[in-house]
Amino acid sequence: MNQRKKSLQLRHVDAGSCNACEQELTALLSKDLDIQHYGIDVVASPRHADALVVTGPVTDTMQPALKKVWDAVPKPRQLIAVGDCAAGCGVFQNAYASHGGVESALKKPDLTIRGCPPDPAKILDMLREMMQN
Ligand code: SF4
Repeated sequence: MNQRKKSLQLRHVDAGSCNACEQELTALLSKDLDIQHYGIDVVASPRHADALVVTGPVTDTMQPALKKVWDAVPKPRQLIAVGDCAAGCGVFQNAYASHGGVESALKKPDLTIRGCPPDPAKILDMLREMMQN
């Protein structure tokens, strides 16, 4: 049985976000959305994670650190882009210090949650849908 269907441990990296996406991620932990009720949680170490959540356009400065965190997530692992910036199409897409979001920095995300910022209820729905696949 696939354990991911029962739980999903997330490690988050802010790769140059404006922080609005982080605020929406924080809302997932509120009593209204209560992601832990669905078996989803945020962990402090990438070594304890099933998936890496990335926000922000992946600035040149953040790219090496993001790569290190991704390399530390044990396989099988999933990559989740949250927000238009991480998807490579946000307001910073033509900025001098970022070049194409998560896909150009690491690989094509397994899940992309669009929005600027995405609604937290949408984030939760898409995470739960990913757990079913
Ligand atoms: S997608 Fe929008 S809210 Fe999220 S980091 Fe980019 S500008 Fe900020």
